[in-house]
Amino acid sequence: MKKHIKEHHEEVRERPCPHPGCNKVFMIDQYLQRHVKIIHTEERNHICDMCRQAFKQQKHLSVHQSIQEQASDPLILA
Ligand SMILES: [Zn+2]
Ligand SMILES: [Zn+2]
Repeated sequence: MKKHIKEHHEEVRERPCPHPGCNKVFMIDQYLQRHVKIIHTEERNHICDMCRQAFKQQKHLSVHQSIQEQASDPLILA
């Protein structure tokens, strides 16, 4: 019985969130994945097609893309 408890304990290891500035630690991998998905992934799901930068809000991405389009179009600069 003791042996069984020890084996079970060895399976449990802490899984800290890999995102900088986030101190969350999970004991179950599924919980960590769910946390990352909810807190870190869906928050920044507006991704620029050109440079893969992620933004929290659609309007931030729109502003970023409009600047990028102007900068990459030589006709506008001329
Ligand atoms: Zn986190
Ligand atoms: Zn971009």
